[in-house]
Amino acid sequence: MTSAKPAAHSRTLLLVGGGHAHVAVLADWIRRGVPEGVRGVLLTPKRHLRYSGMVPGWLAGQHGRDEGLVDLAGLAVRAGAEWVQGRCTALDPAGRSVITDSGRTFTFDWASLDTGGVGQGAALLGDDPRLIDVRPIDAFAARIAAMPAPAPARVVVAGGGAGGVELAFALRNRAGAEPRPEVALVTGEGGLLPGFAEAVRSRVATTLIRQGIALHCAEARFAHGRIMAGETSLEPAELVIAATGSAAPAWVRASGLAVSAQGFALVDAQQRSVSHPHIFAAGDVAARADRTLAHSGVHAVKAGPVLAANLRSVLTGAPVRAAYHPRRHSLYLVNTGDGSAIASYGPWVADGAWVLALKHRIDKGWIATYAALAHPA
Ligand SMILES: Cc1cc2nc3c(=O)[nH]c(=O)nc-3n(C[C@H](O)[C@H](O)[C@H](O)COP(=O)(O)OP(=O)(O)OC[C@H]3O[C@@H](n4cnc5c(N)ncnc54)[C@H](O)[C@@H]3O)c2cc1C
Repeated sequence: MTSAKPAAHSRTLLLVGGGHAHVAVLADWIRRGVPEGVRGVLLTPKRHLRYSGMVPGWLAGQHGRDEGLVDLAGLAVRAGAEWVQGRCTALDPAGRSVITDSGRTFTFDWASLDTGGVGQGAALLGDDPRLIDVRPIDAFAARIAAMPAPAPARVVVAGGGAGGVELAFALRNRAGAEPRPEVALVTGEGGLLPGFAEAVRSRVATTLIRQGIALHCAEARFAHGRIMAGETSLEPAELVIAATGSAAPAWVRASGLAVSAQGFALVDAQQRSVSHPHIFAAGDVAARADRTLAHSGVHAVKAGPVLAANLRSVLTGAPVRAAYHPRRHSLYLVNTGDGSAIASYGPWVADGAWVLALKHRIDKGWIATYAALAHPA
């Protein structure tokens, strides 16, 4: 009987971050194997990826706190890759290395970035001890869970995008909070749900008002220790949540990669850096050079299989062909925290308990797929 020789690993692919696109790369490696001679390494600060889409449902008592976790380390092991715990703090694309928060250096032949963005609440609103940023989402969930009872009775949510809207609904319907917390949603001057169709914005606005959530279409900021919406004071407030969108991690611009004006890694439709072809990027850390694409979990998830195919191509010396062409519209399902949800697809809008049931089915199905890959029965 001959025993198979362990493959000699002559080249390293480093996956920096375990976001929604990189889990698809790990899934591809589990299903089809890591290309021969390649050492795959996944670098993330935490063992798990927390699925942000289920966080509002957790706050509203619809899910357990840890139902929306993907076991990144488990996926890496099953994929035949190494999982290294650490946070990338510097990238040297020309020298093909990264440095982590513990000072370790990792070298690579190819790298792919899917670290998400960073919070920008303090930069936009100012500093205050009551301020919690939703990014990183795992730190947000940990801070909310660690708050002593009773739940804050007066909450301000800054940010009029889908994340801010869902959090406002979730906190108004916070599980176990009696009486219901008073919630104010401050959208910024871009208004409620910028980029969404008028019918969707109006349905969401009506639902916010019906639920008694105060809506302020003004900029949120701290002034002399008070939380303001434009010139209106929202005091007293016990908790201020910043859901003000992703900013680019500083190390991306500092690396010398081509970046957008906001500092996100510029990629083409193949998710490949436009300046450094041995670097790929997807999700909120990236920006498309050829078109505008909103930062959202939907696009990070859908870019995942494209990224997986293209990484396999470069590793096997094949042409990089797969491209991510987003559909004209994306389906968004906004949990309204009260047993219902609002569906948005371009100009189409619908709501009801069936929309929430559909959202739960999609979200839990996504989590279950990765749970089954990480820990097959
Ligand atoms: C409350 C809320 C609800 C949302 N709901 C939806 C929704 O329903 N639908 C939707 O489309 N979008 C939603 N979003 C937006 C969505 O969360 C993000 O667009 C999505 O998470 C981006 O995915 P990503 O792969 O870029 O990164 P992430 O999901 O942020 O994952 C990044 C990963 O990289 C790791 N990491 C971070 N920094 C480093 C580093 N320096 N080095 C190494 N690893 C690192 C992290 O620990 C994490 O594992 C929501 C956002 C919020 C805040």
